[in-house]
Amino acid sequence: MDVQPEESQAARVLYPQAVTVEDFTRNLAAVRARIAAACQRVGRDPAEVRLLPVSKTVDEAHIRLSYAAGCRMLGENKVQEAFGKWQAMADLPDLRWSVIGHLQSNKARRVAQFAAEFQALDRLRIARALDRHLQAEGREMDVYVQVNTSGEASKYGLHPDDVSSFVAELPAFKSLRVRGLMTLALLSSDEERVRACFVLLRTLRDRLRQEAPPGLAMDGLSMGMSGDFELAVEEGATVVRVGQAIYGARALPDSYYWPASPG
Ligand SMILES: *Cc1c(COP(=O)(O)O)cnc(C)c1O
Repeated sequence: MDVQPEESQAARVLYPQAVTVEDFTRNLAAVRARIAAACQRVGRDPAEVRLLPVSKTVDEAHIRLSYAAGCRMLGENKVQEAFGKWQAMADLPDLRWSVIGHLQSNKARRVAQFAAEFQALDRLRIARALDRHLQAEGREMDVYVQVNTSGEASKYGLHPDDVSSFVAELPAFKSLRVRGLMTLALLSSDEERVRACFVLLRTLRDRLRQEAPPGLAMDGLSMGMSGDFELAVEEGATVVRVGQAIYGARALPDSYYWPASPG
């Protein structure tokens, strides 16, 4: 999937770079207001929706400005990048990190060292590796199970039909606190097709809630990004992962983060 130059041009106009604390304060308030408006349209309480700012590609100086504006947990797509930032900003002990991108099992140890949350769990091999390393560290971690709701081969995540049996295995991993499901919707301007991805994730969650093993809280729905978070909130999102609408457009195309073929 190649992103066309016009697309990044459009993103730069839509999402100007935030360069001061005031920019971040304003952008965060604007996103929260849009979340609140989406909640109001469907009779939800905005307190049910957590805004997770996504700081991938953003440098330390700008992350510190967003911290000054109130950000206390940040989403990162790549483990090495996230780990480096965690180390560099160890002087901010209440700044926590959520890994939201695909994980290779040889990186599980790293993630177990520093992340508060992992949102892209889609293989038992990873669950096993994370659990083992977390036990060794004496830590626990919140996890979301990633589901491929768009049917695109380029997206990671479990096929919707495989989610139920996967979740049934998770209570064995005592250091993983399973919080719910996560998805990336179709990248499309066709609202109804994007919405269908969110509806699918919510429907799966509702079904899992009924059959989930005791002690497993499957309430969370992590869905929605800068381009589609209002639709996601209307369809029940409890976490929205928003990068560009807070930090500004990214220089790198999204294809850098979501490679064409899962490996
Ligand atoms: C980058 C990313 C986001 C945020 O995307 P924006 O367009 O910056 O809002 C959300 N989720 C995942 C998994 C990402 O990699």
